[in-house]
Amino acid sequence: MAPTVYDVIVVGAGIEGSATAHYLVNRGKHTLLLEQFPLPHSRGSSHGQSRVIRKAYTDYFYSNMMHEATQMWLELQNSFGVKLYKQSGYLSIGDSGGKFLTEIADSMSRAKASYQMLTKSEFKASYPMMKYPSTFTGVLDHDGGILRADKALQAFQSEFTRHGGELIDGCRVTRIIPGSTVTVKTPNATFRGQKVIVTAGPWTSSVMNPLGLHLPLKPTRINVYYWKELECGSHSAGKFRPFVEVKCCEPHYVYGLPSDEYPGHVKICFSYGPEIDPENRDSVDDSWCLGVMKKYIRDHFPGLDASSPSIVESCIITNTPDKHPILDKHPRWENIVVGAGFSGHGFKLSPVIGKLLGQMALREAPAYDVTRFRIDRFQTSSKL
Ligand SMILES: Cc1cc2nc3c(=O)[nH]c(=O)nc-3n(C[C@H](O)[C@H](O)[C@H](O)COP(=O)(O)OP(=O)(O)OC[C@H]3O[C@@H](n4cnc5c(N)ncnc54)[C@H](O)[C@@H]3O)c2cc1C
Repeated sequence: MAPTVYDVIVVGAGIEGSATAHYLVNRGKHTLLLEQFPLPHSRGSSHGQSRVIRKAYTDYFYSNMMHEATQMWLELQNSFGVKLYKQSGYLSIGDSGGKFLTEIADSMSRAKASYQMLTKSEFKASYPMMKYPSTFTGVLDHDGGILRADKALQAFQSEFTRHGGELIDGCRVTRIIPGSTVTVKTPNATFRGQKVIVTAGPWTSSVMNPLGLHLPLKPTRINVYYWKELECGSHSAGKFRPFVEVKCCEPHYVYGLPSDEYPGHVKICFSYGPEIDPENRDSVDDSWCLGVMKKYIRDHFPGLDASSPSIVESCIITNTPDKHPILDKHPRWENIVVGAGFSGHGFKLSPVIGKLLGQMALREAPAYDVTRFRIDRFQTSSKL
């Protein structure tokens, strides 16, 4: 019997690869999704209980894209039958009249997204648990909220297999051999596909470098800190909202979510972390980030215990120089597509990212202008 040739093989079952595989199987494509670790795992970028979903971007392109992404999340939620999207509102915090809030309001207006620019006194009265300078206010994104991350990942994977997709975990891709049919080697088996899509998150360079493509991807470790409430429930959903604050730790930002996943503990984190090798994620010293965050909590959240975080988890953000992801075909082999470098904002976008990567692999016109995602915006080499 001739070996199976898949229409598409997707390498990496994080949120981007799982969304891509889900899109392809819904398009009737015979799709194989390969994951190096036994699932679920917590070594990449897509684990944990929560991610922010928002239309509040300073860039209209993403605010607009989030309309479709939000709709696709709702469709996934309906078909999976588990709540994935909690629409709680989302606050962008900064100087009243400053560039950040003005750009968010402009891009949300252009995208016809529902929002409210709070006055300084409305902001202060609504969120008494936050102590920021009196010049600060917020833009409230009415459609923003929380995605239940672990469940969302499970939803894409379950719906993928339910519709006939094949998912093999604990199966590391060790080599990709280009050709009119692409060969994908793993320690125990060899697979063949008409197309291959690489969504290997922080490991993307180790998969693409042997194909002569050296992408400017920088994986960084982000510590996810939870802080204990002095009064239990004082920062719960309803009183408090997911937020980002961009001024007090410039050029980095701080974001947070209400106490929910661990009642009594509030997730507030720093956007910055040290560069790492994903194979050695936990071996770097990031005491500097912890110091910044303790001071931040002490200065701005008097209702939380700032002495030390009560829970610490780790995650990896893979940055590109311009913070836009890379979604493109290999410059030499058109049937190998890569999606990587989501720079800390890829979770909420993943349903649309999966569609775009799928369309690229199928050689269809992409649903959005993908110029900003092209590999050739960087100086890269693609010699083999
Ligand atoms: C702390 C933190 C907070 C964040 N907050 C938000 C947020 O609020 N909103 C938002 O939109 N985004 C957020 N993000 C970003 C978002 O989580 C990421 O953009 C997204 O998870 C990236 O997914 P990925 O599929 O590219 O990577 P990953 O999840 O790392 O998936 C890649 C997968 O490929 C597998 N793999 C790698 N190499 C191989 C191989 N050789 N063979 C087989 N499998 C392989 C890996 O094991 C992994 O499972 C946050 C990220 C972090 C770390």
